[in-house]
Amino acid sequence: MIIEMEKGHPITVEAIGKIAARHGNTLEVIEGSEVYDTLHVIGDVRSLASQADYLANLAGVERVWRISSSYKNIARVVGDGRRKAVHRQRRVVEVRGPDGLMRRIGAGKHIFLAGPDSVQTEEQTLTQARMLAAMADRLKIRDRLIFRAGAFKPRTRPTDFRGLGLEGIAILDRVRQETGIPYITEVMDHTLVEQLAGQVDMFQIGTRNAQDFALLEKVGNSGRPVMLKRGFGNDAEEWFNAAEYIANQGNLDIVLCERGVKTMFARNGYNRFTPDFNVLRHAKEKTILPVAFDPSHAAGDDRLVAENLLASLAFLPDASITEVLHAESFRVEQMCDARQALLIELYEKTVEAVLAFEAGVAPLLQQVEDHFELRRGATQEAGAR
Ligand code: PEP
Ligand code: MN
Repeated sequence: MIIEMEKGHPITVEAIGKIAARHGNTLEVIEGSEVYDTLHVIGDVRSLASQADYLANLAGVERVWRISSSYKNIARVVGDGRRKAVHRQRRVVEVRGPDGLMRRIGAGKHIFLAGPDSVQTEEQTLTQARMLAAMADRLKIRDRLIFRAGAFKPRTRPTDFRGLGLEGIAILDRVRQETGIPYITEVMDHTLVEQLAGQVDMFQIGTRNAQDFALLEKVGNSGRPVMLKRGFGNDAEEWFNAAEYIANQGNLDIVLCERGVKTMFARNGYNRFTPDFNVLRHAKEKTILPVAFDPSHAAGDDRLVAENLLASLAFLPDASITEVLHAESFRVEQMCDARQALLIELYEKTVEAVLAFEAGVAPLLQQVEDHFELRRGATQEAGAR
């Protein structure tokens, strides 16, 4: 923690020294050449952090900075306890299907999560899953496919279709049995997590529940991998701290997913949300977690989904989660997110483009990323779990 303060407030400096000591910290005063001095708080500041607002209000205090990260379980750079920075290894999140294949998110190959926005009928869900499985077999990426579909749907209006609930989960179970492909689905109610953990392969936390802390802790205890969407009004720190709620329970199988944020351009213009591509890079730099991109909610329009997915590739995401449609004739029946559902034939072309990018361009971009990693001094890799 660093405290920036105006010169000439010895009483405040003394008071801060005493408070710091009560929390087991010491102070080092660095004299500035002009109006401000800087106080460096030395030691573990987690306890003192609860007083940061109080300190910021003391006479002469200009600013209080917390520099050590509050999301220690998922942070890329941590202290080694002897005031040395250690760069931890990135995590790989594994999801196994009944087909015996392991989907490894963060292991270098792009993982494709795809499926309808929601489960509406068994026939619709199964048809789509079969078509996606056939696509994956054609493109030899079965071990990179995870099926997505919502059974519990967060809706703005309570009168809209809110998903089939547990009946939808039962359909997903049967579809998985039939196709061998594991599935990810959203959970909203923390009281259901324990029950669902016995069924679902991966939990999705939606943008609207990205700061439902009780829910985050429950999935943290579920023993299942979790994809955490970024809250559409959350900054990166809030997002990482939300992930820390999960990690803090001992579950580090978390994938961070950027799905677009609300900006002043949302709604009245050409898009529902605005994709923040830069944050993909930031998330990889600041955390050890794999990072995914959702081109569907970022685009809000099926004409823009392929473009969004391809644009995100420059930032080397570990995975993407895309809403697809099995037949154009179903669009009129689709009860949620019909406008942004990408027809499966077009999705297949997009996946082919991702694979071409992965083979041709990604290695070059990886060299660029590696350069900056080295520049940051990320040479010593500690053995993170
Ligand atoms: C979804 O995946 O269908 C969904 C509701 O996503 P988000 O939480 O990002 O809006
Ligand atoms: Mn959706």
